Amino acid sequence: MTIHLDHDTAAPAASETAVGTTAAPVEDSADALGAARAELRDRLLADGVLLDLGSPGLYGRTGVFERVYSAVDAAAVRSQADLDAEVLRFPPVEPLASFERTDYIASFPDLAASISGFTGDDRTHRALLAARERGERWEGFLEPADLMLTPAVCHPVYGLVGDTVPEGGRSFDILGDSFRREPSLDPMRLQAFHMHEFVHIGTPASAKAHRDDRIPVMHALLESFGLEIDVVPANDPFFGRVGQMLARNQVEQALKFEFVTPVYGPGHDATAISSANLHEDHFGTAFGIRSADGGVAHSACIAFGLERITIALFAAHGTDPDEWPAAVRSALAL
Ligand code: AMP
Ligand code: ZN
Repeated sequence: MTIHLDHDTAAPAASETAVGTTAAPVEDSADALGAARAELRDRLLADGVLLDLGSPGLYGRTGVFERVYSAVDAAAVRSQADLDAEVLRFPPVEPLASFERTDYIASFPDLAASISGFTGDDRTHRALLAARERGERWEGFLEPADLMLTPAVCHPVYGLVGDTVPEGGRSFDILGDSFRREPSLDPMRLQAFHMHEFVHIGTPASAKAHRDDRIPVMHALLESFGLEIDVVPANDPFFGRVGQMLARNQVEQALKFEFVTPVYGPGHDATAISSANLHEDHFGTAFGIRSADGGVAHSACIAFGLERITIALFAAHGTDPDEWPAAVRSALAL
């Protein structure tokens, strides 16, 4: 399959337009950014770090990628050990019913993706095969399976904690697959990736403290990897006109912060490799969760974007980890 490298040279999505970072983009910077992205992608493929699966933002990963990825994840877990979080793992798909309660489809319909399956009879199967034979699309013969690909790995936890969390709240360690329908040739923007999240459900005060207390820890960890990191208010790509209001609210109320690093140099917007997000009562209300004092539970989560951190490391230090600075290898226990 031919991939046209000019596909993704448009302005980056809002999630990567870090507020208050880097120089203002100039007229031709989209081309330069596209070239920088293509250059990193080509290097990762040529040096055998990633394998092109023939669809933008979908890669196979080789041993050298896994070596760094595992080290990043292990370091992230070590850095949060004091939370003593309950470990939970979920499949890469979630039931439609729980997806509904998160309201994700209201904010990010363009990133959402569902699973379909074949439920037809012989005759429908023959019609499908005939369409396929004619070179036509045949997925229209599949029916919604009431399953969504999980876009954020903390989603399933809110339906599992019952109607009350105990005094002190509960903290969770959740690693899993995320899928977001945002095909791109930017190797930092994948469709299928992993997040390691540390989630807290408790009172307004304990949720805010979770988000705020983790920020310096995450900042120090990412800097120990030899990455230049800024912590900036997040500007998520909420969809549509209503979404613009949500995005403004998110920035004005400083609900979410991102850890951004200038993967493509100081002339371009930096890319978010992790985030720290206060949901306030969003999930507590949607899932009917209360804290020990009877109020609606508040929640917060921090997320390490494992592929993005890994690729940022390859971009900053080269594709041979044995050649990386000793301090970086030591921080990663590589
Ligand atoms: P978010 O829930 O948007 O804050 O995502 C959490 C983290 O996941 C981000 O900080 C990124 O590191 C990572 N992430 C988000 N979208 C993508 C993507 N399309 N490709 C790779 N990593 C991503
Ligand atoms: Zn989360």
